[in-house]
Amino acid sequence: MTNLKCPVCGKYVNANNYNFNSEAFIDKNKEDSIVYCPFCGASSIFFSTSGEVYNINSQELDKNTLKIIDHAVKLEIFNGDFYLKASEMCKSDKLKEMFKSLSSIEYEHSRIHMRLGGFKETPVLINMNYSSYDTDEKLLKAASMREEHAVNYYEKYSKKINNKVLSKIFKILRDVEKIHIQLTLNEI
Ligand SMILES: [Zn+2]
Repeated sequence: MTNLKCPVCGKYVNANNYNFNSEAFIDKNKEDSIVYCPFCGASSIFFSTSGEVYNINSQELDKNTLKIIDHAVKLEIFNGDFYLKASEMCKSDKLKEMFKSLSSIEYEHSRIHMRLGGFKETPVLINMNYSSYDTDEKLLKAASMREEHAVNYYEKYSKKINNKVLSKIFKILRDVEKIHIQLTLNEI
């Protein structure tokens, strides 16, 4: 496999990592057929051989756009934290793996936003109390609602922000989160 580079997270996809986080995908990567980035979930239709990574100059962004990106960082960490906890709490081994993979993808999304916004410090969110999610079904329902919220966020702001690259990234991530909704609902 030639080294493919994801233009969204900037990571290389190769024979050693193409199946990372595979539990978080419906269509699976095969060694000879890469359909998504295993790190951020971006569709491989955006891959090119140029090695380009989508980037913006955060210095040129207005305050409002920076706020939207900052919120996206927190949204993804919020969901990454949830999935990490869900992977510890759930009873099913299959779901444990799926939640772990989803967590690592959401954290990757938060790092993408941090790079775009030029943010250096990873925010630490307050610990949530998840004790009411005492069944796998409740965890899955909570997951799908969080994904729904993320899809709506990206959808709304991809239209509002006045930056083509950012808008494109928001749409790509929106589509990744849409798969997560499907994935979590499929397990209920
Ligand atoms: Zn990627």
